[in-house]
Amino acid sequence: MKKRTPMVAGNWKMNKTLSEACELLESLKPELAEVSTVDLVVCTPFIDLPLAKDLLAESNIKVGAQNLHWENSGAFTGEISAPMLKELCDYVIIGHSERRAMFGETDETVNKKVVAALVVGLKPIVCVGETLGENEAGQTEAVVDRMVREGLKGLSQEDAKNLVIAYEPVWAIGTGKTATPDQANDVHKNVVRPILREMFGEEIGEGMRILYGGSVKPGNAAELFNQSDIDGGLIGGASLKTADFVGIVQGAL
Ligand code: PEP
Repeated sequence: MKKRTPMVAGNWKMNKTLSEACELLESLKPELAEVSTVDLVVCTPFIDLPLAKDLLAESNIKVGAQNLHWENSGAFTGEISAPMLKELCDYVIIGHSERRAMFGETDETVNKKVVAALVVGLKPIVCVGETLGENEAGQTEAVVDRMVREGLKGLSQEDAKNLVIAYEPVWAIGTGKTATPDQANDVHKNVVRPILREMFGEEIGEGMRILYGGSVKPGNAAELFNQSDIDGGLIGGASLKTADFVGIVQGAL
């Protein structure tokens, strides 16, 4: 029996038109209806959020966004704020490696976004993880340590209770290369967890969920999720197909 309720969250990235989203959500709902021991989330593109909110209203699947701006409103063309999202969803992914690599996100902007989300009652899923080069240079621990400390800077214990961390080694995202269960658990247990305990106290740090992300598939999910400090997964590519996402959720049961 796991100490923490596992979570499986889908990150649809920039995929699914409204009609495609409708089809996927309608097929996921009955397949996952009996799941009560795993928290389920789908993080859709902004435009699919109202649909997801409506379709999943009576279901056991929560809705999340994939990004937000840290200001509440104003002259920020093309951006979406925390109060806007709060009417549509419960979770928001922050600091995904694709946003860090392609859209200039830094530890500082991640921290601002985390604070903005928490203020309105959104639950951030904060992503951290090293690149292939950093991994090969033996910098995994230093990079993850910095991202966790800087990303969660200034947060209270109460804030921490509403946070989920996702460790996503960049070299494993969308590449088909998965960290081995031991490799991933080592980072969760010996790098991220001790920092969370140090920052927020033993009890809260021990209770926080740390998801793994990076080429999770139905075939490797159970072994990953069985590790002591892997509390579920953030799923990219495999969250776009009902059978794959359901298979991964089964790995968490
Ligand atoms: C992700 O997008 O967060 C992710 C982990 O992608 P994938 O599962 O496709 O590697």
